[in-house]
Amino acid sequence: MNRQQEYVLRTIEERDIRFVRLWFTDLMGTLKSVAVAPAELEQAFTEGIGIDGSVIEGFTRVYEADMIVQPDADTFQVLPWRDRTARMFCDINMPDGTPAATDSRNILRRTLDTAAEQGFTFYTHPEIEFYLFKEPYERGRGPVPVDQAGYFDHVARGDGHDFRRAAIEMLEQMGISVEFSHHEGGPGQQEIDLRYADALSMADNIMTFRTVVREVALHEKAFATFMPKPLAEHPGSGMHTHVSLFEGDTNAFYEPGADYELSQTGRRFMAGVLAHSREICAVTNQFVNSYKRLWGGGEAPAHVCWGHNNRSALARVPMFSVGRGHSRRVEVRSIDAACNPYLTYALVLASGLRGIKEGYDLPAEAEDDVWMLTDAERRAMGIDPLPQSLGEAVAVMEGSELAAEVLGEQVFDFYLRNKWQEWGEYRSQVTQFELDRYLLHL
Ligand code: GLU
Ligand code: MG
Repeated sequence: MNRQQEYVLRTIEERDIRFVRLWFTDLMGTLKSVAVAPAELEQAFTEGIGIDGSVIEGFTRVYEADMIVQPDADTFQVLPWRDRTARMFCDINMPDGTPAATDSRNILRRTLDTAAEQGFTFYTHPEIEFYLFKEPYERGRGPVPVDQAGYFDHVARGDGHDFRRAAIEMLEQMGISVEFSHHEGGPGQQEIDLRYADALSMADNIMTFRTVVREVALHEKAFATFMPKPLAEHPGSGMHTHVSLFEGDTNAFYEPGADYELSQTGRRFMAGVLAHSREICAVTNQFVNSYKRLWGGGEAPAHVCWGHNNRSALARVPMFSVGRGHSRRVEVRSIDAACNPYLTYALVLASGLRGIKEGYDLPAEAEDDVWMLTDAERRAMGIDPLPQSLGEAVAVMEGSELAAEVLGEQVFDFYLRNKWQEWGEYRSQVTQFELDRYLLHL
């Protein structure tokens, strides 16, 4: 056992922790948990805990059901909302000790290792949006937002305010720093921005964030949802992510005097993100509902272009303060709040690294609101649309050599199969829209 593992065992004893939850994430981005008694932990650190992987979607082929959950002692935290309970994130291994091909955390780690071989560390900072609705939710009636406020509103009765405060306090207790929070554009819609961290810690933080936000909401007799587009007439929930590469302590995206102080490396990275955005869209925007957000306006991006102060663009170089070199970054706006953050960050990073390695040229900046242009105008400017549906996104991903390489063959195949199935089930629905529009007229 190493020192951190010994520290965890000591803390458990000192704080009289009774349950330790071992957390891991399935391929669709759902958090899974196994609780173990503290007495089991020493063994968990040295040998791992065996689980039947076949019950977890996408984890195993039937003939290799046994898997090992290996807790990462660096991620130990006591859960503030649960008496004498702590959690650790886990890596998933095969019985022979090799990392499981289907472990999302492992896929991200592998991609971070590739970046490290090129001298880079990948940092991310997400702006996470979500809606708060009143409990109880009645099927068929539509969700009821907790307030009717809008962008940056200070809600008089303070529902959203109290909620954000409670959520932020709990996040900070778990070692997750919050940079910024405010009411978003839709009724009941909130945004909380996390302070930047390396991408693996951040993906763990996002999984924790979703859990904390749901817990706090329930406490306030509401429920929180990260569904990309819960209300047709209001903005969806994105997870715009600011990304940067560091070489040691130096921000590799920063170049004093360059346009927007963005270095050649930064430009090529952004060119890679744009060039591969269509083929990774089935991961950055993984549900049928994700495409209602992308194509439903509300400042979500649907076209592959970049801009400076352009909120209709997929990638953006945010405003900068001259000389604050370490904060130079690119904002990726396509990502939605319901994605699997491990797979999403792995694919965004791999796209950017490809741009650097192959020396991609950054297309010209789009200065206009690209929603206001016609298709023909956008085509003339070389601006492609993102896929319009999950079906189209999966079809594009099928041909992606980059996605196959990053995810690995087994996950790539599983993912495509799973998403074709979701699309097939959706496509066979007869919707209220069709009944209202056609039933009496055709
Ligand atoms: N809610 C918008 C989206 O889905 C973003 C609004 C904003 O600019 O923060 O991407
Ligand atoms: Mg926002």
